[in-house]
Amino acid sequence: MSRVYNFSAGPATLPEEVLAEAAQEMLDYKGTGMSVMEMSHRSKAYQSIIDTAEADLRELLNIPENYKVLFLQGGASQQFAMVPMNLMKNKVADYIVTGQWAKKAFSEAKLYGTANAVASSADKTFSYIPDCSDLPIDENADYVYICENNTIYGTKFWKLPNTKGKLLVADQSSCFLSEPVDVTKYGLIFAGAQKNVGPAGTVIVIIREDLISEDVLEGTPTMLRYKTHADAGSLYNTPPTYGIYICGKVFQWLKRQGGLAAMKEYNEKKAKILYDFLDQSKLFKGTVVKEDRSLMNVPFITGDADLDAQFVKESKEAGFENLKGHRTVGGMRASIYNAMPIEGVEKLVAFMDAFEKKNGR
Ligand SMILES: *Cc1c(COP(=O)(O)O)cnc(C)c1O
Repeated sequence: MSRVYNFSAGPATLPEEVLAEAAQEMLDYKGTGMSVMEMSHRSKAYQSIIDTAEADLRELLNIPENYKVLFLQGGASQQFAMVPMNLMKNKVADYIVTGQWAKKAFSEAKLYGTANAVASSADKTFSYIPDCSDLPIDENADYVYICENNTIYGTKFWKLPNTKGKLLVADQSSCFLSEPVDVTKYGLIFAGAQKNVGPAGTVIVIIREDLISEDVLEGTPTMLRYKTHADAGSLYNTPPTYGIYICGKVFQWLKRQGGLAAMKEYNEKKAKILYDFLDQSKLFKGTVVKEDRSLMNVPFITGDADLDAQFVKESKEAGFENLKGHRTVGGMRASIYNAMPIEGVEKLVAFMDAFEKKNGR
């Protein structure tokens, strides 16, 4: 068996321990004589899996009693529609546009009401987070929306926007569980699992209870109402059973690592190795302004498209996978989520250093 260092932005690397445990339980989950994949979602064994996953997530994030945790399907993108369908009571919402995912969410919201772009960093290819201390928040806005970590551009909101009392909704897909979060500052958080916690398709929603109601936009399908899933404990229909099981294993792994404060410390240490190298390099350059840099996604360039391509090719041959930047940005991007070991980043930096010397800088 040979494992590569996988720097993919998503689906992304998962802890080896988790994969090994899942492999071990594949044919016979804890004496049930079947795989979790083959198990009724109404069975006692499965109920225990989903209950444990929720309890562990609540413990990790310190989720208050008045918030519901939902395990849903459709990926993060389905939330781009579910959020407005369920929360746009006045049919107005304010969006902060800091990249592709925020832009997609913003466009989707326009299908259901008035969506205002109250701030944007499009003027400098989304390489920074705009000042959000005094935004022109609409007085009728039902919520203010952010994409908290911009997977493609490598920026992160280190300070939440001043929403002037309006509800904050955050797409945390690519920073979920990478650090402690004060859940009470949000009305709703969602995260697609495949960046930092599990298999694609599963999406986790954390929503304040008073936002869950029958009062949704006309025509909202049953499956797209938060109430449907909240009332049924995420078991209204067959949930993504195997995905939730793997997420649960990742939650347990995170607890064994010491929880989210320990994770944050590890992630900072890991990212610093790469950023410190980029800051002194004469060949490679980070593309994001320093104060808004993400700990999870690190885009960088050489400034020469041919050399970028050569780097991606040679790094792949050396066992570093998926370093090619997003097709809309070019260059390179190293995604260094929770499960990327520090050795992976150290070895990548050593490889970059050697590449730089070989290419005459
Ligand atoms: C990947 C990603 C998405 C899209 O996730 P899907 O599960 O493919 O719908 C949305 N938002 C962010 C921040 C992402 O990183």
